[in-house]
Amino acid sequence: MNCPACDAVVYSRRSEKCGVCGEALPSEFLFTEEQRAIIESEIESMERSHHEFEAKMDAISDHDRFA
Ligand SMILES: [Zn+2]
Repeated sequence: MNCPACDAVVYSRRSEKCGVCGEALPSEFLFTEEQRAIIESEIESMERSHHEFEAKMDAISDHDRFA
């Protein structure tokens, strides 16, 4: 995804303007509020399952230590 004005790479779809030239980005570059909510909830659930995975790994390594 590149800025249509200066062709700089746009890293954040949350930004309303190009970080390089300050040109307003077209609306299709941006997430809608609904999309943002979906993405944020997905990130949250990913983080939660990552913590669960780490907890399981800790449990397994504890078990191995005493086996
Ligand atoms: Zn630009």
